[in-house]
Amino acid sequence: MSLNSARVESLKDNINRPTRVISYPKKADGKPVYTSEFFGDHVFNLQQIAKALPKPAYASFLKQMRGRQALDRATADAIAHAVRIWAMDRGATHFTHWFQPQTGTTAEKHDAFLSLKSTFTAAGEEVTAIDAFSGSQLLQAEPDASSFPSGGMRTTFEARGYTVWDTTSPMFIQDGPHGTYVLYIPSVFISYNGDALDEKTVLLRSTEQISKSCCELLSLIESVPVGAQPRTSHVFTTLGTEQEYFLIDRSLYSLRPDLKTTGRTLIGNLPPKHQQLDDHYFGRVPSKVMATMSEAELELFRLGVPVKTRHNEVAPQQFELAPIFEEASLAVDHNLLTMDVLSKVAHKNKLKVLYHEKPFKGVNGSGKHCNWSLSTDHGENLLDPTVKPETNYRFLLILVAVLHAVQQHGALLRTSISSASNEHRLGACEAPPSILSIFLGQHLNEVLDSIEESRPIRNFSVPEIQTVKLGGTVLDVKVASLPSIARDLTDRNRTSPFAFTGNKFEFRAVGSKQSPSFPVTILNAAVSSALQDVSAALRDQMGDKPFLSDADKLAVIKKFIGMTKNIRFEGDGYSDAWVEEAERRGLPNIRSCPEAFEQLLVPAHTSMLTKLGIFSNTELTSRYFIMNERYAKDLLVEANTMRAMLAQQILPAAFEYRGVLAKSVQLLSSIEGEAQCPELEALKALTPVTKDLQAAIVGLDKAVEKMLAIHDDAVVEAKTASEFIIPAMRDARTAADHLEILTADKFYPIPRYSELLWF
Ligand code: ADP
Ligand code: MG
Repeated sequence: MSLNSARVESLKDNINRPTRVISYPKKADGKPVYTSEFFGDHVFNLQQIAKALPKPAYASFLKQMRGRQALDRATADAIAHAVRIWAMDRGATHFTHWFQPQTGTTAEKHDAFLSLKSTFTAAGEEVTAIDAFSGSQLLQAEPDASSFPSGGMRTTFEARGYTVWDTTSPMFIQDGPHGTYVLYIPSVFISYNGDALDEKTVLLRSTEQISKSCCELLSLIESVPVGAQPRTSHVFTTLGTEQEYFLIDRSLYSLRPDLKTTGRTLIGNLPPKHQQLDDHYFGRVPSKVMATMSEAELELFRLGVPVKTRHNEVAPQQFELAPIFEEASLAVDHNLLTMDVLSKVAHKNKLKVLYHEKPFKGVNGSGKHCNWSLSTDHGENLLDPTVKPETNYRFLLILVAVLHAVQQHGALLRTSISSASNEHRLGACEAPPSILSIFLGQHLNEVLDSIEESRPIRNFSVPEIQTVKLGGTVLDVKVASLPSIARDLTDRNRTSPFAFTGNKFEFRAVGSKQSPSFPVTILNAAVSSALQDVSAALRDQMGDKPFLSDADKLAVIKKFIGMTKNIRFEGDGYSDAWVEEAERRGLPNIRSCPEAFEQLLVPAHTSMLTKLGIFSNTELTSRYFIMNERYAKDLLVEANTMRAMLAQQILPAAFEYRGVLAKSVQLLSSIEGEAQCPELEALKALTPVTKDLQAAIVGLDKAVEKMLAIHDDAVVEAKTASEFIIPAMRDARTAADHLEILTADKFYPIPRYSELLWF
């Protein structure tokens, strides 16, 4: 079967294949089981731990979980025993420490519960098979760490890495082969010296740090008397990740080497109709996709992942799924689990999920909007503007801290979302620009402007907004109702990379493929540092006074509003005018990845991160190398994939078509004469484009050679890739896409956009 007929077979299969049907849980009498009843039934939760442990042991476990003290051996053994019985009763045969190396995905190595026990009797050694799982196996494992990226942090002779159970994230079971299960133990991954080798360790450090900084600020403004217990003893980072993705037919996918190897199409033209009619967003979800979404949701509900919304996105074949927000590190685990489950289920449905940020040129790319906020241990959202005046000062202080954080460390936030794949999305077709700015919405903006200018708030013809006097030492309490208005009226500026959306911030520049962990870690770190600056200003303002007055708080708010003005932008983030305006404002516009990675070595950022204890200098340098190395490798793989496709598929297709045309020309011109031979025109049109493609392949080869000439220097490799591979691939694509248009469909060897983006 030629590839071309494989294309036709795939399309036929896609059309004729029935939609897969699974059954949702039913009771014995055939009535459905409600979602809430089976939600989390694959999770070994706190109630189960409580059941397994004597009361004092459970209390010490909780203390350990919150304060991260060491677990004692007896408690660990008791939990290990209980979880093994629970998991084996459900069909588990293996367990695995599940962790997040710096590859953007998760890693696991399975161990059977099966063990061999030797007893020595007079008759000699007797070996019996037993099922066992000890506390020390639960707490810690030592996978061979030498093949995970470490950025030179480990030399091969001390390649040891340890995975350690993160008790804040519950264990769960996932299905393995033939109806068996595997017990998953969410873990951190650290080196022999305790350096973070993963994404989770630093995230946990950052959530603890922001909690401390936030509590400090709260105790200052809540006027806690010296020696008294502060009202808030812990602040949680909350995170809700809106996951965008494409779903395409798997057999068509398998005919595209570029999709298979790089996750995106390296060549291809848009069909005449794609997203320009705006008819896909929130449209009816195709039945095969709905079946996939629903099957994945069933598994995710069982895994305790609170998936909430599902809908079509803007581009054809693009969809979105969002959970109910959770505490950040759990939300990250759940996002990674969601991506995994969706991929698995899509496979069963003969579909393929594309998480790449820009799988198709010319239509929208995919992002992972990270909805982020801070919540106290009383469950109060600190970014929720309320009607109570006292909490409005709190709201405004936290708000200005976020402004301050993004202003100081926007460039580092840009680093945290930089990858070879997200580079195609940022600044392209309906995606956030690479300049970090904050959108607050008209009303909140006006609140800040009025405070800054000590003037009444302008009425936006909204009856609830009252004109109030600000300034002096007395604050009119009527200001209290204003931020709540701001919440209700938050207008949506989809062009902003970082937007206030009512009671949370939405970091929209995060890529769909990446783990949300690193961006959230950097955001937490930057806000944590900014909160400390705000606290310092409050302390200065307080001087020798016992408490801060409302006017004192307002003075600090005003100071930070003034300092952070240039980071606020309400206009069109997609426009060229904004690029110029941002330059005038002195905001960094970091266009390329290597430039973004350099930020990890800029003293203003590194000293912030190391002072807070979120990264060590070694960890930062290693991450810098890992990011550069990954980027260079990604581009090299793309270039090689493209070269192979062009030289082995696209160019031969053009040759074949040209051969057919040439024969026709020969035959027909001998009968009718050249002037009466349109085939000749078609042939002539193909000649320069075919030559262009051939030349472009040579260009690609040269770029790749430049890369291969570099040895052991990831930073130079990344720069070279950015400088030479990207333009060589761009030229090759131009020629290939032109050739696609001229080549008869019969000869075109791979599925086109019009087939991939159509159900
Ligand atoms: P939209 O598309 O309008 O932005 P979605 O419902 O798709 O809204 O997603 C909003 C996300 O924000 C959800 O995951 C939601 O749980 C999350 N979210 C809501 N409140 C908070 C909060 N306080 N902290 C973090 N995330 C939140
Ligand atoms: Mg959404």
